[in-house]
Amino acid sequence: MKEKLEEIRNTGLKKIESASSIEELQEIRKDLTGKKSELSEVLKSLGSLSPEMRKEVGMQTTEIKNIFADKLSSKEEQLISSKSVLDEPIDLTLPGTKVNDGSLHPVTQMCYDLNDAFSSLGFEVFSEDDISSEKFVFDNLNFAPDHPARQMMDTYWIEGTENKSANERLCLRPHLTGASVRYLLKHGAPARFVYPGRVYRNEDVDSGHERAFFQYEALIVDKNISFSSGMVMIQTILEKVFGREIKVRMREGFFPFVEPGYEIDMECLVCGGKGCKVCKHNGWLEIMPGGVIHPNVLKSAGLDPDEWTGFYINIGLERLVMMRYGVDDIRLFHSADLRFLSQFK
Ligand SMILES: [Zn+2]
Repeated sequence: MKEKLEEIRNTGLKKIESASSIEELQEIRKDLTGKKSELSEVLKSLGSLSPEMRKEVGMQTTEIKNIFADKLSSKEEQLISSKSVLDEPIDLTLPGTKVNDGSLHPVTQMCYDLNDAFSSLGFEVFSEDDISSEKFVFDNLNFAPDHPARQMMDTYWIEGTENKSANERLCLRPHLTGASVRYLLKHGAPARFVYPGRVYRNEDVDSGHERAFFQYEALIVDKNISFSSGMVMIQTILEKVFGREIKVRMREGFFPFVEPGYEIDMECLVCGGKGCKVCKHNGWLEIMPGGVIHPNVLKSAGLDPDEWTGFYINIGLERLVMMRYGVDDIRLFHSADLRFLSQFK
């Protein structure tokens, strides 16, 4: 009997080892451990044996069953892990399944690239609600009470006030600059931060005007901020975004919240300064207003203008995207035309 069990064990192990597929292994499992297996036959015959033999044969049978179970499961794992998709027949001439994946809008992508470029220079990305108040969008920013911009901007006014004060009536922000004072009141100085977001103007929509559009502003406030450090900052950011040397120039400009204020131009990358449709044939493209922040704005933010100075820029996102791709019509970016947008994947 002992020899017979020994033989069952050896042949069983050889069979398991020789299995070349999961299906074959399942058959072998049935042969070795099923009700009709040789081991089961041995167990059935235990009654006819002497008590001593019964014990010994019983133990040996159990031991072989356990060995089979171990080997079967390790062989199964081995077969599963070696199974490759290449084992299955593949018809390479069949057409594949097309995946229609979306992609970021080129303006959003530019916004993210600017966030990365500014973050690498230690700027924080800050955002506030789209609803602001007259105090933050005009009063704090040195707009006189009768300043024409209050009408010119044709702001969307909303019922209700901020802090129950009459001069703090609510509005959809017509520009982002109010967020700068909000940030400085909260975090103090020194500070360097960007605040991208959507702004709203109650204007008639035409080829050059939208009622809602994106702006991207940056402000740095410190003790030794000069005009030239602002220029270096702009040049560094543009070179990071475009990955090449960029020429920048400034012209005098006027905005209530900066003194002095500038219009900042960059050399047209589409024509390399020679003149083209995008730059209206003068080789330069106006991309942002900016300047040294007005002392009254610093005062609104609770900062002493004798101690602190700030440099401010407002980047035209669409202009930069036009430069990046050489697109000559700004309206295409808001056209929601997938034939146009899918080019930027
Ligand atoms: Zn050009």
